[in-house]
Amino acid sequence: MKFKVALLPGDGIGPEVVDSAVSLIENISEKFNISFSFETHLIGGSSYDKNGTPLTDEVLSKCYDSDAVLLGAVGGPKWEGLQHNLKPEAALLKLRKALGLYINIRPAKVYAPLLSASTLKPEVLNGTDLVILRELTGDVYFGQPRGYDDEHGWNTMIYTKEEVERITRFAFETAMKRSKRVISVDKANVLECSQFWRKTVHEIHKEYPQIQLSDMYVDNAAMQLVRYPKQFDVILTQNLFGDILSDIASMITGSLGMLPSASLGSKYALYEPVHGSAPDIAGQDKANPLATISSVGMMFLYSFQMDKVTELIEEAITKTLSAGYRTADIYSDGDTLVSTSKMTKIVIDKFNEIYDEQALGVFTL
Ligand code: NAD
Repeated sequence: MKFKVALLPGDGIGPEVVDSAVSLIENISEKFNISFSFETHLIGGSSYDKNGTPLTDEVLSKCYDSDAVLLGAVGGPKWEGLQHNLKPEAALLKLRKALGLYINIRPAKVYAPLLSASTLKPEVLNGTDLVILRELTGDVYFGQPRGYDDEHGWNTMIYTKEEVERITRFAFETAMKRSKRVISVDKANVLECSQFWRKTVHEIHKEYPQIQLSDMYVDNAAMQLVRYPKQFDVILTQNLFGDILSDIASMITGSLGMLPSASLGSKYALYEPVHGSAPDIAGQDKANPLATISSVGMMFLYSFQMDKVTELIEEAITKTLSAGYRTADIYSDGDTLVSTSKMTKIVIDKFNEIYDEQALGVFTL
């Protein structure tokens, strides 16, 4: 078996966390006798500096030619003044659109050893395990017209029926494998676009009578996520609302540095941590690599269909945290403070320990 992975480390802490991911994948490659080829390409500010654009067509074609794409993060103060289409973040929108990625999967589950790392009370968090399914190709991020002049600023919130239908079906299919509950989040009390969203979600729901569907306004959902997160299992939502809710959900896990994501389309898949390029800690070996490592877990699940590897990665993360190792973002008194590279090494060691304990030496895929 051979898989081609396109690496897009990007800016800030992106290259550091992608390095962590590659070390883990190389270790998995040895253990499971699967071969991976990696090609590294520029994206974001680093691409702008070299090519005058945050994403070149050549890099795009390399992504088309891969089995999975792993992205670090883009952006930073250096590129903030650029015009909209040259900004590093424009590369993300272009990449997602070009790869036809219409669904962003963001799980937020509590790792028991991290219960105290969140600003939320442990009794509120304990047992939370939810997934946010964010639509990725529509909404105000892409709607035309957009712009601003001296007196106005404007964007267009727009969805096509097909865009809503396909992610809704994915949400119901996902819920079938979980608790059979979906909460669709919108702002249908104010926005016509959300009324259309809600109507379409309910139409598709008729195909899935086993699923319990409810609707929630986004302002209420934001409050409920911190009040009683356990009530959620699958959250289905528009692009803009998903962007905001998933950052709120990051507090459930204790840090943005813990949240992985996968973006899927009908042909291509992109894996990336939810966090940004964290310019404040870039280049200092301080970044938490666990979000990216967990994104690799999602890659093994969705792109390589190796659930066992995903399970081992998640167990290795839990074991590492249970042993008290923490990067600065999740550190509290009494923990062992470690760097990005040290955290990565410990996760890999734990992965190998579990692998050996389970005698996976004889396990074949
Ligand atoms: P950010 O996620 O980069 O950082 C927010 C805070 O969280 C910072 O204090 C940072 O140090 C911390 N943090 C983030 N990831 C961490 C990690 N892995 N380990 C430890 N601490 C971590 O968000 P921001 O500061 O709003 O944005 C910085 C830049 O990143 C901006 O240019 C923004 O546009 C860009 N951005 C990119 C992406 C992406 O590439 N997907 C996502 C969000 C923001």
